[in-house]
Amino acid sequence: MREQRDETIAALATAPGAGAVAIVRLSGPKARAIGVALTGVDARPRYAELCTFRGPSGEALDRGLVLYFPGPRSYTGEDVVELHGHGGRVVTDALLARAYALGARPAEPGEFTLRAFLNDKVDLLQAEAVADLVASGSIAAARAALRSLDGQFSAQVAALQSALTHLRVKVEAWLDFPDEEIRFDASDECAAALDALLADLAALARAARSGAVLRDGLSVAIAGPPNAGKSSLLNRLAGYDAAIVTDIPGTTRDPLREHLTLDGLAVTLVDTAGLRDSADPVEQEGLRRARLEAGRADRVLWVVDVREPLDVALAAARANLGDAPFTLLRNKIDLAPDQVARADADRPGGSHTTGATRAGGADGPPVLAISALTGAGIDALIAHLHSVAGYNAAAPGTFSARRRHLAALERARTRLAAARAQLDGALELAAEELRAAQAALGELTGELTSDDLLGEIFATFCIGK
Ligand code: GDP
Repeated sequence: MREQRDETIAALATAPGAGAVAIVRLSGPKARAIGVALTGVDARPRYAELCTFRGPSGEALDRGLVLYFPGPRSYTGEDVVELHGHGGRVVTDALLARAYALGARPAEPGEFTLRAFLNDKVDLLQAEAVADLVASGSIAAARAALRSLDGQFSAQVAALQSALTHLRVKVEAWLDFPDEEIRFDASDECAAALDALLADLAALARAARSGAVLRDGLSVAIAGPPNAGKSSLLNRLAGYDAAIVTDIPGTTRDPLREHLTLDGLAVTLVDTAGLRDSADPVEQEGLRRARLEAGRADRVLWVVDVREPLDVALAAARANLGDAPFTLLRNKIDLAPDQVARADADRPGGSHTTGATRAGGADGPPVLAISALTGAGIDALIAHLHSVAGYNAAAPGTFSARRRHLAALERARTRLAAARAQLDGALELAAEELRAAQAALGELTGELTSDDLLGEIFATFCIGK
């Protein structure tokens, strides 16, 4: 990642190719001078001036608008010049070549936003929201990204940070002056403050999880014994024949991916090969990949034939999936209508909105009865996935979030919980955990972020952003 902010960068800010308008953007100390050289106009700040863009020997390249945003009141916080010309590759290439000849260099992906971050125009959460807004796949995701860009996520992190700082000041003061008057009889107060912090953090993590699902969708692996109806289920959900459905066990050897939107919830479905032990190396490889996919998914749908006894199906699921969170789907309910009656009877009052019962008590996995063939129970399955994702389209104020954020929030939570446990014991350790929790929160907004992480984040931006 290059960070030479004394260099002036230039890039096409609009999508490449033919278009009604193309915008070349410049940022850095030479932006204004390059703008003047290219247009012959020293544009008034924040006014659109009509001008002719000229090549090296004064020949006209295009006619358009030049805009000048003096730093720090600009997107990057530096002097920014925008040239709005007619869309088209040849003209924009000529404009860029001219800008480079006059002392700019090509911008790297996300470099404009990186500079905005480095110049404190936005924090890291907001910078990421810029990329998420550009990439959003639904209007709900776009709105959520805009909320993050507006700083709604950042504000909640800042509130947690300030409460945490407050607490740390108390604890550190006591550590520094253990014999002084400030006795640590404030211990109860600190415990209460920590509990409140943990509750706020949990609420923020829930909101962030919902935001991450909105951005990335839920990854769901379909697994289970051969011939249980996994491919049929994928097809049923996808609404078309994406997978090969066949009576010969073990046809699906490679995991097959489908990106779907199920009632507004983005879902990546992975159909794994029928999990079963086999001597065939190809089958074994399929099995290995299937287990890997299942282990990575947010949720595994373990599909079994409804005629298989529930306890046997459950034992096989557990043996294959280990700790992976799963839902047991008893498929082919059309072949065993009495099972439907029983499943309904198991659900007095219609159960929850998800329609799922639980196997083996309240801690057991959810169980749903479906028919991939007739579509029975599929609506309940989709509602169940919404509930698993914690996705609520109607929830106001959802902001976009990334897995990185969820991980940092989880680290902060672990540290705070550890601090809470140490509060009555070794206060030094509690103080250390509080410090670590604050560092984890700092990673969110970018106060404490390594260059490597910054490089990774901004490399995923498009050039010109
Ligand atoms: P996979 O090996 O688990 O992917 O199973 P498939 O989706 O290939 O299905 C195996 C067989 O079961 C096919 O003949 C399907 O038509 C049939 N099948 C799948 N789902 C159902 C269902 O809900 N009801 C009935 N009657 N047959 C089904």
